[in-house]
Amino acid sequence: MNVIADYHTHTVYSHGKGSIEDNVKVAISKGLKTIGISDHGYKHMGFGIKYRDIPKMREEIDYLREKYPNINILMGIEANILDEDGNIDVDDKVRKYFDYIMAGYHFGSTPTKLIKGSLNHFINLVGPLKKFAIKYNTNAVVNAMKKNDIFIITHPGAKAMIDLVEVAKVAKETNTALEINSRHGHLTIEELKLIKDIGVKFAIGSDAHEPESVGNFIDGIYRAKKAGVDIKSIINIDGR
Ligand SMILES: [Zn+2]
Ligand SMILES: [Zn+2]
Repeated sequence: MNVIADYHTHTVYSHGKGSIEDNVKVAISKGLKTIGISDHGYKHMGFGIKYRDIPKMREEIDYLREKYPNINILMGIEANILDEDGNIDVDDKVRKYFDYIMAGYHFGSTPTKLIKGSLNHFINLVGPLKKFAIKYNTNAVVNAMKKNDIFIITHPGAKAMIDLVEVAKVAKETNTALEINSRHGHLTIEELKLIKDIGVKFAIGSDAHEPESVGNFIDGIYRAKKAGVDIKSIINIDGR
C-alpha cells in the first residue's frame, strides 16, 4: 500500500513542532505527491490557530508552492465540530483561504451553546450517561457533514463516542472520507470491519505534530490491511 498524500499535518500555527516548510521538506524526502497543512480550528481553547494568522498561512503556502513546484502543497484545516447542529469553526469570511476542510471532535473546543456543549464534553468523559453522548456526538458529526463541504472527518470514534454506522452512511451520501488516523487508534480494526462494506471512502492520515512524523502511515496501513479494507476505497493510495 503506497500512500501518496498526507492531508493531516500540524505546524507551529497550532500545536505542532515544525514550520509549514519543515513539513513540506519531510513530505518531499518521503516521496509524497501531496502535503496538506491542517492545523486546528481557531475555536480550540488550547491550540487552535489564531484567526488573524489565516491569510498569513495562505501567503506562506502560496510562496512555498512556487519554491517547491514538484509537490502539491495544500492549505487545509482540522476544524472543530462545535455543536449538535453541525456548526464548525470555519466562517464564511475565511472559508476561501482553504483548499479543503477536515473536521473532528475535540474536547478543548469552545461550544457554541456553552452549557449543553460543555456538559457533553463532560458526559463523554464520565461514562454512565453514554447513551446521550452518543446521540449528541452522532448528530454533531452527521450535521457537520450535511451542512459543510467536509473532505475528511478526522479520527472518528476517538475522543467522542459515535454511532459509526450512521456516520459512515451519511459520509457516503455527502462524499466525505473517514480517516484512518495513524496517531490516534481510530478508526480501529473492529470499527473498520463494521463499516468497510457500506461504500464509504477512507483516508489514511499521519496527524503529524512534528515534521519527522509527516508521511508516517504505518499504523493506519496496518489497520486497513488487517480489517480487509478495499484498497479502492482509500482516497490517498497510489495505483487504485
Ligand atoms: Zn484531531
Ligand atoms: Zn490533528
